[in-house]
Formats: sequence, structure tokens, C-alpha cells
Amino acid sequence: METSSSTNRILPVTSIRSGSGKEVDPEVYCYAVQVVNAFMIGNPAISNDWVLVDAGTPGSGEKILQAAEERFGPDHRLQAIVLTHGHFDHIGGIAEILDRFPVLVYAHPAEFPYLTGKENYPDPDVTVEGGMVAKLSKLFPIEAIDISEHLKELPADHSVPPMPGWRWIHTPGHTPGHVSLFREQGRFLLAGDAFITVKQDSLYKVLMQKKEVHGPPVYLTTDWRAAWESVVKLADLEPNAAATGHGKPMHGAELAKGLVELADHFPARAVPEHGKFVDSTD
Ligand SMILES: [Zn+2]
Repeated sequence: METSSSTNRILPVTSIRSGSGKEVDPEVYCYAVQVVNAFMIGNPAISNDWVLVDAGTPGSGEKILQAAEERFGPDHRLQAIVLTHGHFDHIGGIAEILDRFPVLVYAHPAEFPYLTGKENYPDPDVTVEGGMVAKLSKLFPIEAIDISEHLKELPADHSVPPMPGWRWIHTPGHTPGHVSLFREQGRFLLAGDAFITVKQDSLYKVLMQKKEVHGPPVYLTTDWRAAWESVVKLADLEPNAAATGHGKPMHGAELAKGLVELADHFPARAVPEHGKFVDSTD
């Protein structure tokens, strides 16, 4: 078994920028760290309290906290962390952050085995088409971390206690306990990796940062039937804006069209033709 502590892993190529942030809504700050987005929820014009949604790649905890200081000031107060899921590129910085701010970490109960050291995610599927990234994905750390002391279940009423105005939606498929977060005001969707806005397996598209609504990252998605149902669920919400785990935020007609097309043609657009997790769509 490989160790998960190394920060020198080859990472999925989804962004050419590192450590850059962008306000996508007065309350939502998208912080791209290496290849993945973490989100700071909170409006610095109103308060220096904030909530972190997902926690970046291994070694990114300090960078996230620095960015929070720039946005919310030196007295910023992290209130809680909410995880869309527990893949290594969404929890990589969490230990460093919890050292400084021992806050609660909210996640779906179905994700708990992977966040309490009880279960590892299945090995990535290196047989799927998708070229470079899939081939490299066997190097991704998949071992579960253990943050049991901090972990708290997202409540059954779908509220997100540290994020008033938001609700969580169970969007399994990429992982069993994957959730997306939706705010009615502005119809804003944080979709994690339920779908992403960049074609992760095309180096050209990553370099160009070409935006497109794309299915979840192929090599780590284990239940394609559930992943499809989750995309349909999210399309039915008719979001005005969406920010995802990988790629740039999208909004308006471009998002609506892309999401409906993905939901309508999911097997052709998103599901690899072959692969060890693919049979679940039969
Ligand atoms: Zn993921």
C-alpha cells in the first residue's frame, strides 16, 4: 500500500493556475489551489466569519488560510468545514487547517468510512480511456484519513448548519456520500465533482481553460448509474451559477445548456466505454 502523506504525487491536470482566487458571488470565493477548487463561504463586507467547502490538495492548508486572511482579514474566523466528498484533492489541506482551527467538519454519513480511516476508496480505474490523467491516476493516494474527532453528519433536514440559506443534496456516484450544496438565492450551486466544468483528461483543454460542462472525473467515479441520476437531479434545480471541484465557475445560458445536455446524453458524454466501474450503467 502506498503512503498517502507524500505531497509529490502527480496530480490530475485540471488547472494551470495555482493559488489564485476569484469572487464568484459576494458570498462565494473560489480559490484554485493547484488543480482543484476550494471555496470560502462568507461575505467579508458583513463579517470575518467564514466556512470552507473542500480543503484542497495535500500541503495546501497554509495557502488556503493565507488566502482567507487576505479576504477576511487577520482576525478571520473559520466556523466549520463542509466536504463535498473525501477524495485526496478535496481534503489534502484539512489536517493543517484543523490544527489551527479545530472546527467541525460536516459530511454525508455515507462518506464517513473514508474520513474515519475505516475504508479506502477503491483503486482508481486506470483502464478507462482518457489518456494521460487516467494513466497517472494510479499514483493518486486513496487511503482514508481519520478526522473522526471533528466529523459531524450533515443533518437529515438538508440544512447546512454553518451556511444559512444553503441546503445539501445527496449526489452519489463519484463517491457514495458525495453532496452538492445549493443556495436558492441566486440559484447558486456548488457541485463538487458531481460534474465539473473542464474536460479533465484533455491537456489542451486544461491549458486553454476551455469551459464545458463535463461528467465527473472518470478514473475515480465508481457508480455511473448513480452519477447520472445525480446530474439529472442537479440539472432539475436549474442553477443560475455553478462552481465545481475542477474548472472555472459557469453561469447563465452556457451552464443551463451544458448541464441539460449532459443530463440528457450522460452515457455518451460522460461514461467511459470500458472500465472496471462501468457495468453499473447497464
Ligand atoms: Zn473527487
